[in-house]
Amino acid sequence: MNISGMLEGKVAIVTGGTRGIGYEIVKKFLDAGAKVAFFGSKQETVDKALERLKIEQKKETQFIGLYPTLSDYKSVENAILSVKEKFHHVDILVNNAGISARDSLYDYKPEDFEKIMQLNVNAVFYCTKIAAILMKEQGGGSIINISSMVGTYGQPAGCGYPTSKFAVNGLTKSLARELGKDQIRVNAVAPGVTRTDMVAALPEEMVQRLAATIPLGRVGEPEEIANAVLFLASDLASYVTGTILAVDGATQV
Ligand code: NAD
Repeated sequence: MNISGMLEGKVAIVTGGTRGIGYEIVKKFLDAGAKVAFFGSKQETVDKALERLKIEQKKETQFIGLYPTLSDYKSVENAILSVKEKFHHVDILVNNAGISARDSLYDYKPEDFEKIMQLNVNAVFYCTKIAAILMKEQGGGSIINISSMVGTYGQPAGCGYPTSKFAVNGLTKSLARELGKDQIRVNAVAPGVTRTDMVAALPEEMVQRLAATIPLGRVGEPEEIANAVLFLASDLASYVTGTILAVDGATQV
């Protein structure tokens, strides 16, 4: 499908853009004509992703990679301001970086619960606040949060992760109402099980068993999540805000 031009002239920030779903979003946005700044957790993985993009995209002047500490407000602010300095504006923010854990409540360490909330919730708030200030000055923007189907259903172990995604949905719906007057749209995409490294590492037989419970009969591909993000980022979604878009093959848990 020809998507070139869908994000022409736009500047996007994608957190957690070094691999998995985030990397597909970065590629999709570049294909659609945006300039993209992606954030990773450390220099080594950012450099690796930059090298990969240079080979796969060949648009070297269109992207940069940074590694701010997302749990630190000042570090996030410096990074986002440096993106504005480099590319002159910030039109799209994708809060994609996230971690999960599956510990039972009885084994759950308070510091691990806090770590999940720091990245999956606090960092979303930090990035959104700083980007929204710039978007308001510019006259609008689009913010997309990567939630999860567990933000609707919960999960039977690892309560921190679904709790964080319920919070992401709450931020999405609340900020859509608060920022609409500034022409800033806020939406979320809620993926089901998606074939990133984590799923690819599972035995094929286990993936097949999982797939059999999904009405579409398979797990999702990272590109399918990126397609939904592209729609919400683009002007095609100009009247869509406050939506949690499930991209999960109709998974019901
Ligand atoms: P992944 O583990 O493959 O990639 C995570 C990304 O986040 C990486 O780029 C990593 O650098 C970044 N990251 C991790 N810790 C970080 C930190 N402390 N600071 C900055 N960046 C950090 O994950 P993924 O599967 O691609 O997931 C991306 C998003 O999609 C997450 O928010 C996740 O909750 C959500 N999600 C994934 C699935 C799935 O099945 N893969 C399903 C539902 C939702």
